[in-house]
Amino acid sequence: MNAAAETTKGQSEDIRPLSAGQFIAAPTPGERARLRGARCRACGETFFPPRRYCAACTSGEMEDIELPSSGSVESFTIVHQQLPGSAMIPPYAIVNVRLGAGPVVQTVLREGHEMLELDDDVALVVETVLNEDSHSYVAFIARRLAGGSKEEGK
Ligand SMILES: [Zn+2]
Repeated sequence: MNAAAETTKGQSEDIRPLSAGQFIAAPTPGERARLRGARCRACGETFFPPRRYCAACTSGEMEDIELPSSGSVESFTIVHQQLPGSAMIPPYAIVNVRLGAGPVVQTVLREGHEMLELDDDVALVVETVLNEDSHSYVAFIARRLAGGSKEEGK
């Protein structure tokens, strides 16, 4: 998965997505993640990451869309052991987040994972996950939305 071309050399604060094609606009650490998804023009199904053909109806009439930057936790698991090849230091949660009426995205949640519950509202935020060769690599992570309680009804 080293398809990303090295185009800009010599910049010390070069920010790159860890995975290419996920963001609809240049990701900025600390900001909400603006993720690129796809919607099927034939049946309306949405996907992340974008795909060329609809997995629901096989139509090739797909359009890029910007996905909501928040959603609710549909399922999660707590990771207690370091996974091979992962830079993530446990414990943390791997969460599946349902983005409104859109698709489910999988990411990690570090802060407050011990309090995590199903249906918790989380935001998707851009975070620097790796610094290497004078590049900062960013990904999107989930962060529990402030307030803590479930008082903010929908
Ligand atoms: Zn479709």
